[in-house]
Amino acid sequence: MKCIGLLGGMSWESTVSYYQALNRGVRAELGGLHSARVLLNSVDFAEIERLQHAGDWPATARLLANEARRLQAGGAQCLLIATNTMHKVAPEIAAAIDIPLIHIADATARRLQADGVARVGLLGTRFTMEQDFYKGRLETQFGLEVLVPGEAQRERVHRIIYDELCLGQIRESSRAEYLAIIAELAAAGAQAVILGCTEIALLLGDARAAVPLYDTTAIHAEAAVAWSLARE
Ligand code: GLU
Repeated sequence: MKCIGLLGGMSWESTVSYYQALNRGVRAELGGLHSARVLLNSVDFAEIERLQHAGDWPATARLLANEARRLQAGGAQCLLIATNTMHKVAPEIAAAIDIPLIHIADATARRLQADGVARVGLLGTRFTMEQDFYKGRLETQFGLEVLVPGEAQRERVHRIIYDELCLGQIRESSRAEYLAIIAELAAAGAQAVILGCTEIALLLGDARAAVPLYDTTAIHAEAAVAWSLARE
């Protein structure tokens, strides 16, 4: 079993989900007391969030590339960036290390393709819903048609992530808002919706939505488990 490098803390609420999913995934494959080999490097999210909203992405890239190098030096054999949003600087991080980076959007897109989904809704931070590094990547590299909510709804989805979910606050009213937005995306033709923020599953849990939900945290962790256990 190869060692998974987990670059987490963005937020730590979802890093907990990753840690559980990695260990449960390995146990499901190997049984008994088997658990995942994981090296976790968990950053201070306040600094990352400040730089994101100041638009200083080069500084986030330098900071996270440095932390990824620490994981590699510690023995990690692959890297997971445990957030969708910070894949904005995935190319800079990948360039700083020699171990493979398992990309969250690519793992999700492959799952959608395998399930025959061509038109998909996307929820996440505004960065994820609006920019080419994520929405554009799904469209141009995987040929998916990606629907996002309207401007006012994108702002609500974004604010709930930073003001509630990343702080561990789960509110019934926010859950209802998300489910209503998902229903609108489904009415607009989405066959499924990507939970493109690693905290959203904490809010929706096992909610019954209008269409199937693709939890990027779970999919990313499953891809890492498969990579970790694959024979050379
Ligand atoms: N964890 C979230 C994501 O998957 C948002 C926090 C962040 O900005 O990294 O995008």
